[in-house]
Amino acid sequence: MIRLKSEEEIGLLKENALMVSKTLAEVGRHIEPGITTKELDVIAEKYIRSLGAVPGFLGYDGFPATLCLSVNDVVVHGFPSAYKLKEGDIVSVDCGTVYGGFYGDSAYTFPVGKVDARTQQLLDATRQSLEKGIEQAVAGNRTGDIGEAVQSYCEALGFSVVREMVGHGIGRDMHESPEVPNYGRRGHGVKLHEGMVICIEPMINAGRKEVYLDENGWAVHTADGAKSAHFEKTVVVRHGKAEVLTTFEFIEKDKR
Ligand code: MG
Ligand code: MG
Repeated sequence: MIRLKSEEEIGLLKENALMVSKTLAEVGRHIEPGITTKELDVIAEKYIRSLGAVPGFLGYDGFPATLCLSVNDVVVHGFPSAYKLKEGDIVSVDCGTVYGGFYGDSAYTFPVGKVDARTQQLLDATRQSLEKGIEQAVAGNRTGDIGEAVQSYCEALGFSVVREMVGHGIGRDMHESPEVPNYGRRGHGVKLHEGMVICIEPMINAGRKEVYLDENGWAVHTADGAKSAHFEKTVVVRHGKAEVLTTFEFIEKDKR
C-alpha cells in the first residue's frame, strides 16, 4: 500500500530532510585522512541529538550505529569501525533521523583527500544520475522512468547499477512502498502520484554490478572489489516537477 502524504506530513518530512542534510555536511567537514569511521558516527549522533531529533538508523532492524559508513568496495550498510580513512578512499555516508513521527534519509559519497580520475568520474556520474532520476519523479510517470534515467546515464559512462538494493517510499516508516529501482524500462513499474514521498538512491559500481553480503549480515560489497558510490535524496512527487526535500548545498558550499 502506498501512503500519500498530506502537506502537513510533507512539512515534517521536510524538517527531517533538512536535519539530515545538515548532519551530512557536519560529518563531511570532518572527513580527512586519519579519522576513523567510528569517530564520524559519534559526531553524527551528537549533532542529530543537538537538533532535537533521534538517529533514524540506530536500532533499526538491529543496525548498531547512527550512520552507514561504506568505504570503497562497500556499497551500503557499512558499520562504523576503527578503520582510519586514507587519502584516495571514498566513503558513502548514509544518515537517517526521526522527528515528529517521520523519517529523514539521505546519503552522500565523499572523496577522502584527492582521488584518482576514474573514481572522481564515478562520484560525479552517481551524483548526476540522481538528478536525472529526480527529473522523472513527476506525477503520471512510473518508477521505471526513474530507473531507466539513472541506468542509462551511468551505463553510458561504463559504470554498472546495483540491482539488489533500491530506493523506497518514506514517511512514518523509513522504508515504505513503492520500491524505486535504479534500473528499469520507461513506462514500466509503479505509477507516481502527487503526494508520494520517495527516496531515490543510485548505488553505482565502477566495475561489475554483482555484490555480496558481508558475513556480518549487513555490509554489501562489490563482488569484484571495485569501488561503489551512493547518493540519496528525499523528494515529493508533484505535477510537472518534483519537490526536492534534501539539499546538498550545505555540503557543497564547504568545498573550496
Ligand atoms: Mg539512506
Ligand atoms: Mg534510503
